[in-house]
Amino acid sequence: MASHKLCMIPGPIEFHEDVLQAMATPATSHVAPNFIPALGESIELLRQILFTSGQPFIIAGSGTLGWDMTASNLIEAGEDVLVCNSGYFGDRFGECLETYGAKVTHLRVPIGESPKLDDVAAALKTKKFKAITITHVDTSTGVLADIKGIADVVRRESPETLVVVDGVCSVGSEEIRMDAWGIDVVVTASQKALGAPPGLCVMGVSERAIGVFKNRNTPVPNYYANWNRWLPIMNAYEARKPSYFATPAVQNVFALNVSLKQIVAQGIEKRFAVHKEASAKAKKFIHDLGLKLVPTSLEHAANGMSAVYYPEGVAATDLLPKLAAHGIVAAGGLHVEIAPKYFRIGHMGISVTEPERGHLDATLNALKASLAECGYKGAL
Ligand SMILES: *Cc1c(COP(=O)(O)O)cnc(C)c1O
Repeated sequence: MASHKLCMIPGPIEFHEDVLQAMATPATSHVAPNFIPALGESIELLRQILFTSGQPFIIAGSGTLGWDMTASNLIEAGEDVLVCNSGYFGDRFGECLETYGAKVTHLRVPIGESPKLDDVAAALKTKKFKAITITHVDTSTGVLADIKGIADVVRRESPETLVVVDGVCSVGSEEIRMDAWGIDVVVTASQKALGAPPGLCVMGVSERAIGVFKNRNTPVPNYYANWNRWLPIMNAYEARKPSYFATPAVQNVFALNVSLKQIVAQGIEKRFAVHKEASAKAKKFIHDLGLKLVPTSLEHAANGMSAVYYPEGVAATDLLPKLAAHGIVAAGGLHVEIAPKYFRIGHMGISVTEPERGHLDATLNALKASLAECGYKGAL
């Protein structure tokens, strides 16, 4: 791989050499005998990674396409959806749902907080919601939501409500057990903790949600995102048969296939634990430097990334270019209300599962050196 600055943002993340190599394969037909099993096997691997017997989808697009797929296939115009909103991505998912005529109620939490189970229970009592959406890791705040706890509350208060998880920044770095926890939809994308280049929308959909989709009263108000077109394609590839609706992103699928195989080979449980350990190490280092995290408690801080306030006297315009000069690309703030006040570091995928690469240490050491160059004395 060409030498480059380390991409330590909350996605795209650093790619394994074998994943990149898969992008460099020759032009290949989407019905070629070597492509069909790559997509078919990836669908099977996703079932293992998401702990579900439901239906995975792998479709050219980004995570955002998963919002359109959810909104257009599972919600009908006029239906109510409760959006557990912990930042930027809750606002955007809400906008997408409204585009298809959903009536959205936002359950907003203060910046840095995660949705409280009692508040979710109270909101569910106000009306009948077709679905509830939860941002598992809100990439704008680094907050981790308790999706297991929320799904329990939904089962108790409003069992028919579909539980939809925006797992774009959590699948592959945070524990998710779709079937055991009663989760109906998980939306993700190739470029975050799944460790492949951007270009694929990846989803898991429960059998129950597929049933709800099949019993719609109105047609799906979208052409490309319509599951009536994609279900036969996913089924065909899984049965190792060629089929066509719209050309799959062949090389992206080859790359995702390599990455999913690596994830399963390493062990999914182990992967959760390794991300937790690396996150604890990063957060301790940040704390020891005298910096404050955006999440108000470590209990609900994401394991794949850290959102950190700049200390007094240090600005985005100072720190990020200095980090870049040390070879580390970090991300600025994203939450509109606090954007200039904090920065974000990703610690997902090979950067933590293969610690011998030294990515996390290099990032933390660069952070310390860059803060010193900014004139920060603090606890250095
Ligand atoms: C990145 C992200 C998205 C959007 O995904 P794209 O692949 O950029 O379209 C949605 N939700 C969350 C939580 C994200 O982190």
